[in-house]
Amino acid sequence: MSSTIAAPPSSEATPDPAALCRFLDGEHHEIKQEVRQRLADFGVAPPGQAMPRDEYRAQVMDWMVRLAETGQPAMLFPKSAGGQGDPAGAISAFEMLGHGDLSLLVKCGVQFGLFGGAVQHLGNEEHHDKYLAKIATAELPGCFAMSESGHGSNVQAVETTATYDGDAGEWVVHTPTESARKDYIGNAARDGRLAVVFAQLEVGGEEHGVHALLVPIRDDDGNVLDGVTIEDDGDKLGLQGVDNGRIWFDHVRVPRENLLDRYATVGSDGLYNSPIENKNRRFFTTIGTLIQGRISVSGAALSATKSSLAIAVRYAARRRQFGPPDSDDEALLIDYRVHQRRLFPRLATTYAIHFAQRELVAELHKALTSDEHGDREQRQLEARAAGIKAASTWHATDTIQACREACGGAGYLMVNRFAALKADTDVFTTFEGDNTILLQLVAKGLLTDFKQRVGDLNALEMVRFYGEQVMDQVVERSLARQVVGAFRDIVPSRDDESYDDERIEDREWQVELFRWREEHILGGVARRLRAGLDDNADTFEVFNDCQDHVLAAARAHVDRLIVEAFARAIEDCEDDSLKPLLDRLFDLHALSTVERERGWFFEHGRMTAPRSKAITKAVNRLCAELRDDAEVLVDAFAIPDGVLAAPIAIGGDKASATG
Ligand SMILES: Cc1cc2nc3c(=O)[nH]c(=O)nc-3n(C[C@H](O)[C@H](O)[C@H](O)COP(=O)(O)OP(=O)(O)OC[C@H]3O[C@@H](n4cnc5c(N)ncnc54)[C@H](O)[C@@H]3O)c2cc1C
Repeated sequence: MSSTIAAPPSSEATPDPAALCRFLDGEHHEIKQEVRQRLADFGVAPPGQAMPRDEYRAQVMDWMVRLAETGQPAMLFPKSAGGQGDPAGAISAFEMLGHGDLSLLVKCGVQFGLFGGAVQHLGNEEHHDKYLAKIATAELPGCFAMSESGHGSNVQAVETTATYDGDAGEWVVHTPTESARKDYIGNAARDGRLAVVFAQLEVGGEEHGVHALLVPIRDDDGNVLDGVTIEDDGDKLGLQGVDNGRIWFDHVRVPRENLLDRYATVGSDGLYNSPIENKNRRFFTTIGTLIQGRISVSGAALSATKSSLAIAVRYAARRRQFGPPDSDDEALLIDYRVHQRRLFPRLATTYAIHFAQRELVAELHKALTSDEHGDREQRQLEARAAGIKAASTWHATDTIQACREACGGAGYLMVNRFAALKADTDVFTTFEGDNTILLQLVAKGLLTDFKQRVGDLNALEMVRFYGEQVMDQVVERSLARQVVGAFRDIVPSRDDESYDDERIEDREWQVELFRWREEHILGGVARRLRAGLDDNADTFEVFNDCQDHVLAAARAHVDRLIVEAFARAIEDCEDDSLKPLLDRLFDLHALSTVERERGWFFEHGRMTAPRSKAITKAVNRLCAELRDDAEVLVDAFAIPDGVLAAPIAIGGDKASATG
């Protein structure tokens, strides 16, 4: 690769992208390779030009049916229902769909993950036997009808009702107000036949909260059934190949057996029974079982991010602009420091989130296939899924935009993919849980754990704890740090002059910095909340007053989870030829994150001007060192050319590359 600006010499041999790909894919390498190849064989490239909406939807449905014929979706479902009982394999396969057309990905997510997942996780064996095989083959297209126009995030407040008529042994499903209409529902406008409908359950005059029921919406010929009204949501910002729509129910009757009754049953005697007495807990248990959708979206967002980086990095390695005045050659974009800074830290963070996602998928697999998964593990998994989904989808939005800009005018042409990547992934930050709401869920879990830790202290420790709290306010130390006592001395204080550049790249030091930030913010939030509640202020007001602080705690927590997952992945890497590159990537991810947050570290006395400058210098150096390996890092994503499709990335647009 020629360049007019010299890159620093690389001391190690360039790693083999195929080996790096195997390492990234881990135990699901074969499945992922199979799906990559399948996407290429099917020609599932996003349209390079606008397609009429109806034609596009038909194309996406056709792709989904062909995909179902391969047996891939059946991986998700239990063996007892004709599936393969391999949720991690299924989610890994789904992740690969994120390199292709994202309308296909979302259509599959709705059909197999949401609709099929709800039947699997909330239904009983009879529901499994009756429906799962037909769902897996797409013979029975369905919807997951949870959101309403009035309530998307606050699902507990949905207004649709399901009232039990004991004489007829039927549920009466009804939309009582305009705000209760189901909205944005995938598969509703064109293809869905059966819907999982979330409604307020009422039995014998008693309300039992939100439950899910199966409600047919179209007959086998696709005609909308009596009592059901469906309207197309119309054009969207992206995902035009998915038929989102609105649904109203006018006293629609379905048999008693249509209640998905894993957590609550109504027998032929008309009596309601649930092993979970508390209404609130029952609701969160029900919703919690559906996290696989959230984890799947997070993986898909990563794939889209990787596609955009693959396009932008390859383009940067061929595109020339300006250069030294005394040279005939213009410089390659990839040799400009600012260009490296726009792309490489985001590439490093993509690797970091990749490993956090891989761990998450493994944890979900364990939760779904082993008996050793208790309530506490489930709560942790839910919080982790929420946090990683928020991080991954926000990272996608940010990175895709940066990559589009990095490709200049060529990046704006539809044929080079960014139009679809931007428009189609945008909503990933909203569906499967709005990111801001998800981070509040993460924080709730953290505060509960924090309270338990504090609650576990004995009387003497409590006295010390409260004593140190007062001291805390004076010397501005973290309350959490006092409680845990584990982080003292690890993060140098403002007076500590002993750090040097070497320390900055010390992994333990870097990771502890993330831990300390999390504990410090969390301690601060807990203190503020307690002070507010001790003053007997209104609980809603107290929490609302601290909301930005609460979200900062959740973000710091997720940053720590991600950095730790990356560190563990490198520790577990058995291929020595990959380690030096991964080490550098880790440093870049960790230090560029600290650089981004340095205002906070300054505010809290953990950053000095010399250290801040040293970090900036290190980030610049790491970017320069990664210059020669950047293409290997994106080649390792192994996206087939026909799927990546952008001419500027696969050698199809030589004029634009050479300027
Ligand atoms: C393309 C698409 C496909 C979809 N597919 C489906 C589907 O198949 N099935 C289904 O059931 N649903 C589906 N949805 C709905 C989706 O899940 C909801 O849009 C989502 O949950 C957000 O709800 P909302 O739109 O009511 O936004 P709101 O909850 O009203 O949120 C609006 C804004 O307010 C903020 N906000 C809300 N509450 C708070 C708070 N307490 N504190 C601070 N900020 C707050 C949010 O962060 C957000 O920025 C889909 C949506 C879209 C756009």
